[in-house]
Amino acid sequence: MSELLDAGFDTSQCLIGGRWIGASGGKTLPVEDPSTGQEIGRIARGGKAEIEAAVDAAQSALTGEWGRMPAAERGRLLAKIGRAVEENVEWLAKLEAHDVGKPLTQARADARALARYLEFYGGAADKIHGETIPYLNDYTVYTLREPHGVTGHIIPWNYPMQILGRSVGAALTMGNAAVLKPAEEASLTALAFARIAMECGLPAGALNVVPGLGEEAGAALCSHPGVNHISFTGSLETGRKIQQAAAQNVIPVTLELGGKSPQIVFTDADLDRALPFLVNAGIQNAGQTCSASSRILVEASLHKDLVRLMSERYKALTVGAAIEDQTVGPLISARQKNIVQGFLAEADEDGLAPVAEGQMPKSAPMGGHYVRPTLYGDVNPGHALARDEIFGPVQVIIPFRDEEEAVSIANGTDYGLVAGVWTRDGGRQMRLAREIRSGQVFVNNYGAGGGVELPFGGVGKSGHGREKGFEALYGFSALKTVAVWHGR
Ligand code: NAD
Repeated sequence: MSELLDAGFDTSQCLIGGRWIGASGGKTLPVEDPSTGQEIGRIARGGKAEIEAAVDAAQSALTGEWGRMPAAERGRLLAKIGRAVEENVEWLAKLEAHDVGKPLTQARADARALARYLEFYGGAADKIHGETIPYLNDYTVYTLREPHGVTGHIIPWNYPMQILGRSVGAALTMGNAAVLKPAEEASLTALAFARIAMECGLPAGALNVVPGLGEEAGAALCSHPGVNHISFTGSLETGRKIQQAAAQNVIPVTLELGGKSPQIVFTDADLDRALPFLVNAGIQNAGQTCSASSRILVEASLHKDLVRLMSERYKALTVGAAIEDQTVGPLISARQKNIVQGFLAEADEDGLAPVAEGQMPKSAPMGGHYVRPTLYGDVNPGHALARDEIFGPVQVIIPFRDEEEAVSIANGTDYGLVAGVWTRDGGRQMRLAREIRSGQVFVNNYGAGGGVELPFGGVGKSGHGREKGFEALYGFSALKTVAVWHGR
C-alpha cells in the first residue's frame, strides 16, 4: 500500500480553492483496509470551517476563470481529465481495492466508468441548450440553461468513483462549482481524482473536496446557505435528513437511496444467459450495491431447477482479499458485517436455512470483514430477508404462480430502484416494464452494462431525481425563461 501513497500523495488534506490543506487542528480519521482490518493511512477530518472555506472558494470560482470558461472549453477540459483518469486506472483501482475492499477487476471497472463519465459529459458540455417558444406577436421568448451555482455532493463508500463521476462530472459540465464530501470509510479515490483534475488544469475552486464525518462535514455542507443544489447518494435515513436540511434553504436535492431490487424469471427465460446476471447482481461488491438484486422471483414450475443452478454457482464463489481479486471481497467495516450477520441470525431463528454458500479460503487474511455469499431457496416475501435492504452478499429466491403475483411481489417493498425481467414473451416484457414500480427495468439483462448514457434513479423510498445520461445535465441546471417585447 505505501508505494501507492508515496508518490507525493498526502491523503490527509482537503482540496479547497486549489490548495491542499489539512483540517483545522490537524484532525484526521483512520483509513482501514477492509480486507485486513489494518489502518493504512489517514484522511482529514474536515468540519464546518473547511466546508465554509470550500463554499467560499466555489463561489469565487463561479465569478472567476471557471465561471467565464466557454462551454466547449469546459468540455475539452473534462475530456482531458477523463483521459488522465484512464491512464491512472491501475493506480486508482489499487487504491479502491485497499480502501473499499473491492476486488481489483470490479475496482478497475469503476475507474474506467469514471473516465467514461468525463468523456461523455465532456462531449455534452456544448450541446445542452434552451429553446425558443412561439408566443404572442411582438414577443420573442427563449429559455437559457444556467448552472445552479455551488453544488454539494455527498457520496457513499460503495462506488466512490462511479458516483463522483456521474454527479460531479455532470455538475461541472453545466458550469457549477462543486464541493464534494466523500464517505469517511472511503475517500482515497476522490482525493486521487481531485489531484488528477488539478494536474489537468481544472481552475481553482471548481472542485473542492472535504473528507470528514457525515454529522460534521456532511451536515455542514447540506445546511450551508451558500449551497444551491445538493446531490446525495446514500441511505434512506440520511437522505431524509438531507432533504430536511435542503428544505430550510429551499434548494433542489437529488436523492439516490437504497433498493430491494427483484429479478423475475419466467419458465421461457434463456437461463444460460440469465444465470450469471442473477448471481452477479447479488454478490458484486459483496452485495453492497444500491441496485443489488437481492430478490430472485421465479415461476413455480422452474423453482426447483433454478435453486439447483444458482446453488452450483454459489458453491463456486470464492471470498478473499480484494487485492488478490477474489470474486467476493470483504464488507466495508466490522459494523456492516455485524448488520449482515444479524440478518442471517434472524433467518436462522425463523428456521430458514441457506441452500448454498460461497467458499472462504483459509488464505483469507485474518481481521478482514468477510461474509460468505449466502443463498436462501424459498423465502416468504414478507420476511425481513425479502423486504429489507441487507447490503451484503445475500440473495433470496421467491416462487410465484403467475404474472400478476410476480408483479405484486416485485412491487411489494417501499423501494423502487431497479428490476430485471427474464422472458422471451414480447407482450409480457412490455406489460411488466409498465407495471413494475421502479426507476429502471431491464429486460433479458440486468444493469445494461452500467452505461453512463442511461438515466438512473429511483421511485418511492429509493429517492427522486435522475443522475447519469443527459437527464442529469437538466437536473444540474436551472431553466430561465426570457421574454422580450419588441413591438413598436
Ligand atoms: P450513509 O447515508 O450512511 O452515508 C452516505 C454519505 O452521507 C456519507 O458520505 C456520509 O458521511 C454522509 N452522511 C451521513 N450522515 C450525514 C448527515 N447527517 N448529513 C450529511 N451527510 C451525512 O450511507 P452508506 O451506508 O455510506 O451507503 C449505503 C447506502 O447508500 C445504501 O442504502 C445504498 O443503497 C445507498 N446507495 C444508493 C445508490 C443509488 O444510486 N441509489 C448508490 C450507492 C449507494
